[in-house]
Amino acid sequence: MSAEPGSTHHVLILGGTTEARRLAEALAEDPSYRVTTSLAGRVTSPVLPPGEIRIGGFGGPAGLASWIGVHRVTRLIDATHPFAERMSFNAAEAAALSGVPLLALRRPGWSPGPGDAWTFADSLAEAAALLPGMGSRAFLTTGRMGLHSFADLNDTWFLVRSVDPPAAPRPPRLEVLLARGPFTLADERELLTRHRIDVLVTKDSGGSATAPKLAAAREAGIPVLVVRRPAVPEDVVEADSVQVTLDLLRRRAEDRRAR
Ligand code: NAP
Repeated sequence: MSAEPGSTHHVLILGGTTEARRLAEALAEDPSYRVTTSLAGRVTSPVLPPGEIRIGGFGGPAGLASWIGVHRVTRLIDATHPFAERMSFNAAEAAALSGVPLLALRRPGWSPGPGDAWTFADSLAEAAALLPGMGSRAFLTTGRMGLHSFADLNDTWFLVRSVDPPAAPRPPRLEVLLARGPFTLADERELLTRHRIDVLVTKDSGGSATAPKLAAAREAGIPVLVVRRPAVPEDVVEADSVQVTLDLLRRRAEDRRAR
């Protein structure tokens, strides 16, 4: 398969985030780019960006490198979620195998401000070990995939918010709230009050779409248990916003034309 007539770059965006969608929207308006977004297929009805879409794993780094070659991809963007640990390493390895430049779009993490009572954990398992000492009615926003880490906490009541219903194993005392961000501060305040939440558990996902829960917890004097981000591959060029990613992509294209 070759690039669309007139387009000079085929950009493969490894997606699953708001930023990946925004990037695809911006590139779709530029005829010099053909854009394909790749999704893992975890969410039943994802919000799809413009451009081409492919869904499902590639079969590891070699599979991704092969896909890049067959579809004549000229730019690879890792715009996966900061906690999609494996895919970021797969992207780095596939870029090395295929020789296609890789750019990682990583939104900055959150940091505590005045009035915040944050405790950090290095993993979901560590968060589960710390949680009983912090509260008994937890608002758990770490996603449905890691819920098994909290399955043995029989004395904690959980409000679990996720896009799709979580599967077993899961903690025995829980209510599931199916919802997709962005969320407003007013809604988050109301949730904390209605469910008498006394501790919030979150990944350090960063971004504005899910940040209001942190402000609501601060206002209510509720402690927050924050799971730190996993490591990312070294030596990958990073951008911290969609705009910076676009600027870097365009600058590279201009440099190439000037040579
Ligand atoms: P992961 O552990 O890093 O990846 C596991 C496997 O899923 C990868 O080895 C790959 O399979 C496949 N995969 C992951 N992202 C893919 C993509 N964009 N396109 C095609 N295949 C992909 O990832 P995860 O934590 O399960 O997350 C899966 C997806 O959900 C990611 O795209 C991520 O952006 C999104 N997401 C994750 C979180 C989170 O907290 N982890 C939150 C929000 C959104 P192969 O090795 O077979 O290629």
